[in-house]
Amino acid sequence: MKKVRIAILGLGNVGQGVWKILNTNKNEIMMKCGYDIEVAKILVRDATKARCVEIPEGIITTDADDIFSDDGIKIVVELMGGTEPAREYMLRAMRCKKHVVTANKLVLATQGEELFRTADEEKVLFYYEASVGGGIPIIREINESLTANKIEKLVGIINGTTNYILSKMTQEGMDFDEALREAQEKGYAEADPTSDIEGFDAVYKLAIMASLSFGTKVDFSSIYREGISNVKAVDIAYADKLGYVIKLLAIGKEAGNKLELRVHPAMVPKDHPISNVNDSFNAIFIKGNAVGDLMLYGRGAGDLPTGSAVVGDIISILRNNVDLPTLFMLKSSKASKKVKSAAESSSSYYIRLNVKDKPGVLGGIASVFGKHNVSIFAVNQDVKNDENVSLVFITHEALEGDVAASIEEIKNLNKVNGLENIIRIENFN
Ligand code: NAP
Repeated sequence: MKKVRIAILGLGNVGQGVWKILNTNKNEIMMKCGYDIEVAKILVRDATKARCVEIPEGIITTDADDIFSDDGIKIVVELMGGTEPAREYMLRAMRCKKHVVTANKLVLATQGEELFRTADEEKVLFYYEASVGGGIPIIREINESLTANKIEKLVGIINGTTNYILSKMTQEGMDFDEALREAQEKGYAEADPTSDIEGFDAVYKLAIMASLSFGTKVDFSSIYREGISNVKAVDIAYADKLGYVIKLLAIGKEAGNKLELRVHPAMVPKDHPISNVNDSFNAIFIKGNAVGDLMLYGRGAGDLPTGSAVVGDIISILRNNVDLPTLFMLKSSKASKKVKSAAESSSSYYIRLNVKDKPGVLGGIASVFGKHNVSIFAVNQDVKNDENVSLVFITHEALEGDVAASIEEIKNLNKVNGLENIIRIENFN
């Protein structure tokens, strides 16, 4: 059996998962790729740290040069996270003619172009399956299995932390703070959960998926982003009553010659399969013009699921069986489609207002919506022993700009106390 030497940068969650898979499934992997894979070096920050895996002496190092100066190492697997030195180390590896595998969505979404260009120039392979959806093979699906299609739409639950929190709020009636605390205790949320909660993590992943799906460069900063910290238990209860479940969605679709790209909480109909994606699971729904509707479901994080995608990439490199031009689309696409501004996007909306329980208030609000071309599908008012009540409107599909203009005017009506929440409704049309 031929031998190949590889190096891993990082021995955290995913690094340890990769080590476990390479050892546990050693024989299967050898049979499938025709190589005996030897992990020659593993780079860490702290060589004395206790790990859940036993690494033989001489492999762990804190000196990156041990890896770059070793011509015998053919593949470098970056699992450190963050932008630097991850970006610099991947570029160095490529310049030393080493193929690179990464799980790092942050670097790909923010600095991907330089990495793809360098991989191209150095004629090395650069794979990143684990960067979106953890163990779900979404990148390969888009790049290979679905290449016969024009992808019309993507809707993903691609952040496990927010899905866990929203699931707890929905199923156990927890409020946001309580669900976040539990997610942190169980290790589903970081001590600083901002990147997940505020939708940044999902934006990076959507940027990667959208550039591959729509064959265009996507600047992650052009993606509309709204996190889940504003979703209240009362909105979850209203959603339930109206036949919906609230999820943090990443949505990408072609709309004319522009793209619509957004990450925000949305109400999804209870009869759509994505509404049943709970806890830390991820799912990506795709509409292709040939395949129709398709949904991939699985673990979006964790040592072994993510490790499964990383080791799959290593095996693909060793087999060299993946079509290069499609894999480089992220970088080489000449097209740069415009992304619609938020005001140009359209959706149905759930709008919860707090109003004085007085005659004429409903009519006043309805006429403002009408003036701005926002058509009302349903209205719900809860009876309260109070002079103030919540009034919930569900709109037909309307332009966000028109909805925003309506809300500004409605907020100033004298019987309206204020806007309590507004959440888009995704009907999968
Ligand atoms: P992690 O547990 O924080 O591990 C990071 C590892 O990198 C640690 O072993 C750390 O060394 C090492 N490291 C960090 N900075 C370093 C530096 N400057 N020099 C040398 N070593 C350094 O991270 P993770 O959860 O495994 O995530 C790794 C990557 O996978 C990230 O890009 C993440 O976004 C991506 N990813 C993770 C998951 C998941 O489920 N965790 C899922 C999908 C994608 P020490 O151990 O010595 O501190």
